[in-house]
Amino acid sequence: MKNTKRNLKINGKLTLWAASILLILFFIYTMLQYFLVQNWIMVHEKSSLQKRMDEVVAYIQESDSAENISERQKYLKVLNEQDQMIRLVREDGHVVFTITDGIPKKWVPATFMTRSELIEKKITNETVLIYRKPLTVGEFQGTVEIIRNVEGFDSLIDQLLALVVSTGVVAILLSFVGGRIIAFQLLKPINTMIQSLKQIKGEGIDKRLPISEQKDEISELGIVFNDLMTDIEKSFIQQKQFVEDASHELKTPLSVIHGHLSLIKRWGKEDPQVLERSIELSLNETNRLIRLVSELVILSRVDETPSVSKSLTSEELTGIFQNIVENFKLLHKDASFSINCTFKNHFRVNISKNHLEQVVVILLDNAIKYSKEEKNVSISLLTANDRLVIEVKDVGVGIPEEELPHVMDRFYRVDKARSRKHGGSGLGLSIANVLLTQYKGTLEIDSVFNEWTKVSISIPLIKSE
Ligand code: ADP
Repeated sequence: MKNTKRNLKINGKLTLWAASILLILFFIYTMLQYFLVQNWIMVHEKSSLQKRMDEVVAYIQESDSAENISERQKYLKVLNEQDQMIRLVREDGHVVFTITDGIPKKWVPATFMTRSELIEKKITNETVLIYRKPLTVGEFQGTVEIIRNVEGFDSLIDQLLALVVSTGVVAILLSFVGGRIIAFQLLKPINTMIQSLKQIKGEGIDKRLPISEQKDEISELGIVFNDLMTDIEKSFIQQKQFVEDASHELKTPLSVIHGHLSLIKRWGKEDPQVLERSIELSLNETNRLIRLVSELVILSRVDETPSVSKSLTSEELTGIFQNIVENFKLLHKDASFSINCTFKNHFRVNISKNHLEQVVVILLDNAIKYSKEEKNVSISLLTANDRLVIEVKDVGVGIPEEELPHVMDRFYRVDKARSRKHGGSGLGLSIANVLLTQYKGTLEIDSVFNEWTKVSISIPLIKSE
């Protein structure tokens, strides 16, 4: 309901906008036409008046003497048109003759002029053109005046204005119809998209918007939306998988504990041996649960941890490795560790000590867990291509080639039984990978099944200024 309202609002707005723009354009166009036509008619009138003046002046100048000038008016009477007055004014202001057809003489006072002038004047609501031109015939000096009432022009302009106003009213109606059509056409693909989205909402997130052949903004929006849906679907599937895997992992130790508790309830109370063993095994499982939960917590928090932290120097790095190896030696007396460090220069890397320790412990722990009888782990620290490279190599069970791409997936274990026996949950490498990604680090695994495994990590060095 809300959507329909919003849609209507946009529809209304679009109609109004389109109609207003159409109307404004129409108005500007007609006004321009109106003024152009008005100007054009006036120019036309003036040039015809000038022609008439030239004829009149030429005709008067044909007189052989100043006395004969007034004789000329007979022919000029024939030449004169309706709503026009021809007047000859002498130097001293005396009117030699006036020929008029429909123009009162007093409208324009007789004026002698030594230069030509053409003026437009409004006299009692009528527009008149007054044209004065000096004239000399022998000793006679005078001015010819032609006054023309451009009444026809006025009525034409009035008609034009009436036309503009009446078409303006029609234009308002047409603009609204046009506006509605434009709004409808513009919103058509959006409405189709809304329909498809409603369908997607009903049918599930694996459905996609149909993309039209036309390459326009709407199809671009559709493509972006579909990409977004693919990402959401992917992360939704991953999330679902994670929850399923996590619940499965949590369920196994809980079922074991439940089994032992039932055993104790039935017989354990009387049999101290069963009691002892069941309690021990249950404790093992609770330890596993605690470890698993803390690993899950690390994974869920990793993205929130700020990646900028105190950097480590090359000296601090070697110190950290020596400490970790010392601790491992204490825990695994049957294992041997070798550290090969080939740093030539002093450098710094941007990673928190805590996170680096976490990653290294995961790698060493795996190296021991997946070693055979003989537990030889070699660690190499070197710099290459402006990166710190740490390699942990063991001569153990190795990883089959086809499994290599998956070992970094959450909960993925090549040999479930072996991993579980050592308390593995399949989260170690994914935690290490997520932690390293924060520092633009990489994690790569290379292995030959049943022979050796080498895990290499790299972190960019901080460039010294
Ligand atoms: P887990 O807790 O099971 O060790 P990891 O994420 O650390 O989980 O490792 C995933 C899987 O990769 C392990 O179950 C194991 O099968 C394999 N793996 C990891 N490191 C090694 C290694 N050094 N040698 C052989 N296999 C390994």
